[in-house]
Amino acid sequence: MKTEAGRTEAAKGKGKARPREVAVAGIPVSPGVAIGPVFDTTDPPAEAPRRAIEAGEVEQEKQKLAGAIAFSRKQVAKLKTRIAVLPEEAQEEIAPLLDAHLMMLGNSRLIRGARKRIETELLGAETAVGDEAEAIATAIVALKDDDKAGLARRAGEVRDIARRLVRNLTATPFRSLKDLPEGCILVAEELTPADAALLDPARVAGVATEEGGADGHTAIMLRALGIPAVLGAHGLTEAAKRGDPAVLDGAAGVVTLHPSAATLAAAKDRLAAFAKERAKLSKLRRLPAETTDGEQVELQANLEIPQELPLIAQAGAMGIGLLRTEFLFMNREDLPDEEAQVEAYTQIVEAMEGQPVTIRVLDWGGEKDMEALAEGVAPVHAGGNPALGLRGLRMLLKRPELLEVQFAAVLRVAAAAGDGDVRLLLPMVTVPEEVRAAREIYERVARRLRRRGEKLPEKLPLLGAMIETPGAALAADAIALEADFFAIGTNDLAMYTLAVDRGEAEVAHLYDPLHPAVLRLVQFATEAALRLRMPVSVCGEMAGNPQLTPLLLGIGLRTFSMNASAIPRVKQAVRALDIGDCARFARRVMEQSDPARIRELVAGFAEGVTERA
Ligand code: PEP
Ligand code: MG
Repeated sequence: MKTEAGRTEAAKGKGKARPREVAVAGIPVSPGVAIGPVFDTTDPPAEAPRRAIEAGEVEQEKQKLAGAIAFSRKQVAKLKTRIAVLPEEAQEEIAPLLDAHLMMLGNSRLIRGARKRIETELLGAETAVGDEAEAIATAIVALKDDDKAGLARRAGEVRDIARRLVRNLTATPFRSLKDLPEGCILVAEELTPADAALLDPARVAGVATEEGGADGHTAIMLRALGIPAVLGAHGLTEAAKRGDPAVLDGAAGVVTLHPSAATLAAAKDRLAAFAKERAKLSKLRRLPAETTDGEQVELQANLEIPQELPLIAQAGAMGIGLLRTEFLFMNREDLPDEEAQVEAYTQIVEAMEGQPVTIRVLDWGGEKDMEALAEGVAPVHAGGNPALGLRGLRMLLKRPELLEVQFAAVLRVAAAAGDGDVRLLLPMVTVPEEVRAAREIYERVARRLRRRGEKLPEKLPLLGAMIETPGAALAADAIALEADFFAIGTNDLAMYTLAVDRGEAEVAHLYDPLHPAVLRLVQFATEAALRLRMPVSVCGEMAGNPQLTPLLLGIGLRTFSMNASAIPRVKQAVRALDIGDCARFARRVMEQSDPARIRELVAGFAEGVTERA
């Protein structure tokens, strides 16, 4: 169901009047400009194979259907609250359609029929919904009525709502994302990080979604792939129709449908300026990240998927400061075994040619849901509130066999690489005991490998802890006694400190890494590490924001890991800074209690640096 916001005017006009330009604002997530036709994701999701059930599974299947109905109702209700941002005439057109969808998700013929098919034909819920929708749609089209277009539209609505149900029942990513039409702007209600991992940056010009926040994993993935993106664009999926011409500005956070000639010309100018700036920044590749007073700063890359390796090389990163291994577990129904992991890590470590690579063990949970772990071969229940449940190291300590395979694979790769080339990192640490427990498993796996004849270095690769919960930050001095290094994850640290979901559009305005509470925790953890002369880095999204470089340097940090495309800009910032100035500036910022004032100071300092540079 896609309506034609912006076309209403055209329909009222004579002949082929141009549809009116509609701008939809969202959260700027990945810079760059895209010009191209909209491609929406209302296509059928992954082919849901026909599924039969046993008589004893009927109740369970009906419950599954009830769950998907409730979830779909919530989605549609949310869309309804959001269309308020669209032009009035578009709202008038869309609201009744959404009401019809809500009705169909009530005690409708579709739902009653699907339930009956589960009971009498013993069909899986998604098969039952698909069959019933097809039967209803065919019957509608066959009705005796002159308004054939009206009948086709009604049939389309039934199929639409069935698709939503099937998508929610199967929870499968849009596998069609792999081969989108070249140069399109992908528009979707929501993309999971696993969906985003399937996108080909050579084909997709831009991405815009209704859901999502600036530092959620989907946003991180899109930045990593260098795809211009706007998330949290409320009203967009209702306003956009497949094939609509559009302009997406990832820095401004705006998607413009049916752009006027002036808008299009301005977008082309920005596109050219962006390319020019990128070419200029690429000249920094071989220059050192050194402040004006000679302080060396280490700029490393975060890696989400191996496809990023060429970008990392182009950016001149000094190694990988955060290798998120989740990609190995995404979009598959089984688990990667030790050999598959060895192969994947080897490819990355070899590509880095002796630069250090910090491999983080699986951070499952929260928004990073993975089929094999959620309901497949090794079911793990993250709890009613997954962000606060079995996530990261907590889950791995409950399922040590997963940790053992990963440790074994990393140890074998480290043995084949040079000394110090590989380090291990533990996600979602909250208490020192978790690091101690992980280290015991680590050493046990090393002993087992040695018995198996593997030649491991006498000193095992360093084992570090992510500092990404307020508990870990405030207990950093105690955790520092157990860990070999710290990597401060400001994305989760901000989320857990402020109680704001990093990937949720509704509360995105409250997600603020410059909140003094977050900054104080970063400072506390950094100082705990520096007191022990222990390596410490920042690998959250803050690290890649050049405006924040002076503050982080001033707090005492010297190692930053970020998405590769951010490295040149951060290097440019580093090369214009003096450490003494940064330290004075950080003291001033840390005295503040008002986030708005901090933002002002940060922006002011950055402007001064630009002027001085
Ligand atoms: C973080 O939380 O800041 C972090 C780097 O980890 P992730 O984004 O993978 O959760
Ligand atoms: Mg994290």
